[in-house]
Amino acid sequence: MKKPKVGFYSLTSCSGDILEITNLEEDLLKLFEIVDVVELNVAMPSAGAMPEIAFVEGAVTQSEEARFLRKLRKEVKQLVAMGSCACTGGVVARGPKQRKGWLRDVYPESWEIFKSGFPRAIKDVVQVDLEIPGCPIERGYFLHCVGYLLRSVMPEVPNYPVCMECKMKGNECLLRYRGLPCLGPITRAGCGARQPSMGRPCDGCFGPYDDANLDSLIDIFRSLGLSEREIKSRLDLFWERHR
Ligand code: SF4
Ligand code: SF4
Repeated sequence: MKKPKVGFYSLTSCSGDILEITNLEEDLLKLFEIVDVVELNVAMPSAGAMPEIAFVEGAVTQSEEARFLRKLRKEVKQLVAMGSCACTGGVVARGPKQRKGWLRDVYPESWEIFKSGFPRAIKDVVQVDLEIPGCPIERGYFLHCVGYLLRSVMPEVPNYPVCMECKMKGNECLLRYRGLPCLGPITRAGCGARQPSMGRPCDGCFGPYDDANLDSLIDIFRSLGLSEREIKSRLDLFWERHR
């Protein structure tokens, strides 16, 4: 039976999402059994063929990237934004007002040669069929989505908070019992409460679920003694770009 062609591509990114795929171990071998991988940036040479399903990580910062995306969109049946940078601009889209200053600080001799524009989500350039959030993506959730896409069905997206996954794992609540500024109550589940399960508050990389009550969580953060600046900094990592 002919296997569907699948490609994985990187725009401006740390390649963290594609690295998650290369780290699928036995599941990666199973994936190669059911799909024909024509492109897996950083891990194998290109087969030089167009896929039917394209997974793209990273934000759009260069005009070449926008051109590439438009071409890809015309060729593929399904285009998937993979990772928070691809879905919203992610961490690379932090600090729109401070960017020039940061560039000058890091590259004092050469900052003027950087021609990249402000990072954009893929959906700001072309139509996207599915977004798989996360920084990086969650391997189990990625495989879940692939299973649906291969049947040409859109996967269901969890519409409840990370707290539910925390409870299912029996974790002690970091917000309630340790006073840590966890964003789990306003963040869409799907990661299996990855950070809280390791004793770290959720940073919100999956973005909000539909009924997320941000104002209420901000009130809780204030009651914990966080300053307005600290609260803004917590939300600025991922959440701000969803508002
Ligand atoms: S979403 Fe996170 S892991 Fe993926 S490219 Fe952006 S910074 Fe890297
Ligand atoms: S640790 Fe965070 S994600 Fe887990 S239950 Fe508490 S607030 Fe929710």
